[in-house]
Amino acid sequence: MPKQSKPYPPAVEAVTHQPVFEWKKITGTLVGYWFPDYMDKLNVPGYHLHFISADKQQGGHLLDCRLSTATIDLDWIDSVKLLIPQNAEFQQANLTIYSKTDLEKVEGDKHQ
Ligand SMILES: [Zn+2]
Repeated sequence: MPKQSKPYPPAVEAVTHQPVFEWKKITGTLVGYWFPDYMDKLNVPGYHLHFISADKQQGGHLLDCRLSTATIDLDWIDSVKLLIPQNAEFQQANLTIYSKTDLEKVEGDKHQ
């Protein structure tokens, strides 16, 4: 999603203007994580993957993909470090206004 400016639109609105690219037969690396359902207040449950092409010229948040060949490495993460901004703007922000449906729109297709 492109950088936003103040007054910041809700993410569910900003995502409607995000550029979407489609690449075929491209080689690169996917990196991401899977977030469990029981932590749905911190992030959208499911997979969250980012792509970068082998030549490092294309990439971004992955909405969908099909793999022809892949090497997969998995790691188990047993902790999450959460950094909370220490400023008045963040402290006064209304972060409870998003519905689960809105968050799924922001994150894209969760059937990856
Ligand atoms: Zn992302």
